Parts: sequence; structure tokens; C-alpha cells
Amino acid sequence: MRYIEPHAHMVSRTTADYQAIAQVGCEALCEPAFWAGYDRASAQGFFDYYRQLTEYEPARATKFGIKHFCWLCINPKEAEDPVFAREVMALIPDFIDKPNVLGIGEIGLNKNTRNELAIFEEHVDLAKKFDRPILIHTPHLEDKLKGTRLIIDALKNANVDRKRVIIDHVEEHTAPLVLDEGFWAGMTLYPESKCSPARAIDILETFGMENIWMNSACDWGISDPLAVIKTALEMKKRAHSAEIVDKVIFGNPKEFLSQCPNFHLH
Ligand SMILES: [Zn+2]
Repeated sequence: MRYIEPHAHMVSRTTADYQAIAQVGCEALCEPAFWAGYDRASAQGFFDYYRQLTEYEPARATKFGIKHFCWLCINPKEAEDPVFAREVMALIPDFIDKPNVLGIGEIGLNKNTRNELAIFEEHVDLAKKFDRPILIHTPHLEDKLKGTRLIIDALKNANVDRKRVIIDHVEEHTAPLVLDEGFWAGMTLYPESKCSPARAIDILETFGMENIWMNSACDWGISDPLAVIKTALEMKKRAHSAEIVDKVIFGNPKEFLSQCPNFHLH
């Protein structure tokens, strides 16, 4: 089965993971800028990270026939100090025109603080200035609903083009908020906690197959680089047609990502 992995932090993964996802049909992979497994000591650390995302990871993916794209930002986990965050954001214009950069992300909220929200809003302004789509991280567990509401309010105030914004890590209680407001929604599949493949399919069956994608995160916690394809197989077991499965794991991400000027599959 062909598919697009729309959210994977490959800087935390081995080359064997690239090999495994290539073997099961991954054609393109998108890597949002996020925490790198440690807090960076200076803005220079982000300069190096942006080079990793725009130079080294695309080269590593190419060896397996996978197209690698990325999103740039300072993630909310490291954005609590606004002076530091702005220093990092000042680097983004130098990288935004690199050939594999899609837009601004994954921005959002971690602990829903005032400083995080201010930096979130400045990232949204940056995306508008460069006319790029936005990928958004929502907080996990009990802060998710409040964080999602804060994010949606801020996006409404900024008057963004909602079809070019994807709000990721939705669950049953946040998916309808996001979709009903005209944004795209992402579901992050984890083998142990959070959204399991079975839960993700329940969400698809409840809220529909439009404007939604699934991803495996591939981060530093327990996560499964094959989660998207395993969920696709589970959809087939539940008697979803091959066309619907292809739409969810390939067509939908392609449709959203094609709004990014640099996205192309060949
Ligand atoms: Zn992420």
C-alpha cells in the first residue's frame, strides 16, 4: 500500500526505521520541528537542528526512495522564555525557502501558559507573512481540550485560511471542535498510550473521512514507525474499501500538503 507519513520525528530514529517504512509503501514523510530529546542551550542549537531537518534528513530519506519534507518553528516545550523563542524564530526566514520546507510547525501549546500563547500567535503571523500553511501540536491528556480551545480562538483572531491549518493529536473530544470550524485534523497513533489504532478508526467512523490524516509521531517515547500502515490493515479488517483506506493514508495528506508550494511526490 502506498502512503504518506505526515508527522514523524526521524532525528530520533535509526536508518533501519527508514528501511522498514520504505518496504511497506511510504512515499513521503514530513518532519515537524520539535523537541530534539533535550532542551537546547542556545539559539545556535536550533540553527544546527534546522540544518539537520533541511539537509541531512532529506539525504538520509532519499537513500530509501522516500521524499523528506519538514516544518520549522520553536516548539512550545522550549518556548516558555519569549526572548529566547524570538531569537530562534529570527532564524526561520533564512531557512523558509529551502526546497523541503513546507510551512510553520509544529507550533501550539504544551502547558497552556501565557508565554506559550504569545509565541504561538507570533508564529501564526510569521506563517501569514510567508504565506505558508501551519501544523499545530495540541497538549496531551487533561490539558488537551482547554489548549485546543485556546488555539482555535487565537486562529480565529488571526483570521487565517482554515483549510491551510492542521491541528494534530486530536482525540474523540477535540476532533469535532477542529473539523466543525473548518480546520484539518490529525490523529497521532501510539501503541500504548493516547490514540490507539482502534480508537483512531472509531474516530474516523464517527466524524468521517474528510480533512483528516493519521500519523505515527516516531518520537522519543514508545512509538511505532509502522503505526499508519498497521491502522490501514485494521481498517481493511473492518471492511473499509481499498479506496477509502487509500484516501485516508495517501489522498488526504496529499491534498492538504499540496497547498504547500514545495510539496511534490516526484
Ligand atoms: Zn510531533
